[in-house]
Amino acid sequence: MANLGIPGNTIEVLQKYHFIFQKKYGQNFLIDTRVLDKIMGAADLTEDDCVLEIGPGIGTMTQYLAERAGEVVAVEIDRNLIPILEETLSAYTNVTLINQDILKMDVKKLARERGKALKVVANLPYYITTPIIMGLFENHVPLKSITVMVQKEVAQRMQAGPGTKDYGALSLAVQYYARPEIVAYVPQNCFIPRPQVGSSVICLEKYDTPPVKVNAEEQFFAIIRASFNQRRKTLVNGLGNAPELGISREQIAAALEQMQLPPAVRGEALTLEQFAMLSNLLF
Ligand code: SAM
Repeated sequence: MANLGIPGNTIEVLQKYHFIFQKKYGQNFLIDTRVLDKIMGAADLTEDDCVLEIGPGIGTMTQYLAERAGEVVAVEIDRNLIPILEETLSAYTNVTLINQDILKMDVKKLARERGKALKVVANLPYYITTPIIMGLFENHVPLKSITVMVQKEVAQRMQAGPGTKDYGALSLAVQYYARPEIVAYVPQNCFIPRPQVGSSVICLEKYDTPPVKVNAEEQFFAIIRASFNQRRKTLVNGLGNAPELGISREQIAAALEQMQLPPAVRGEALTLEQFAMLSNLLF
């Protein structure tokens, strides 16, 4: 089968099937073989790997994955793409195609059935990047890594550290579960149709156990969310006004003092370790 990373081959397939792009599904297909090679390099696949690809499109990246991994499970929501995928992937016996919404799928069961942790590799639909990634982490799906194309700004937020403008709840949530590394910037002209925004490939290497110990995960994440909900507020004011936490300003002030942090400190200054310490002091 022709390499669909070459623009002319993708256009031929799209024309043959009179394919109409669905904006609501975030369809921007990759047409750049160098970018595909970079993604494969970052995903570091072997025969032993089972890959979950979210949104295979017309199968461009799926072909690359099938040539490197032991098995590829490709989950595509758009049923109009299924007959196309059946043709473009017909040469591969190690690809399982599932016509479903990834957000409604029991991915944990998939990993359990395969008896191994999955590698997720995808050019993600941008409208649901965060729910997909956080869903995989929060549901404790057995994972080795997630290597994905996302909107450039989202990749920067995932990788950001304290004191930077991109640092926030997403940075901390991702960094609690995985080590992020942006591996490539991908300009708009590498896709058909061209997206409105630039993209980046980010690799999230999952930790076996989180780098910090947290007594109460739910409250830990609630503290993080409340800290950045009102970014310009001090932690004492931001957390003290969050009814879902049920803690007083005095309790927060006392915890900050115990941590030897200034009373007017803001959430954006705290590291993951400090958020864990604060949460453990409060809960
Ligand atoms: N992997 C292809 C490529 O790189 O050329 C297509 C990537 S495109 C950015 C995103 C793909 O995800 C589309 O094929 C779209 O139909 C699919 N998609 C969108 N929402 C989805 C969902 N909820 N579950 C599964 N697939 C979805």
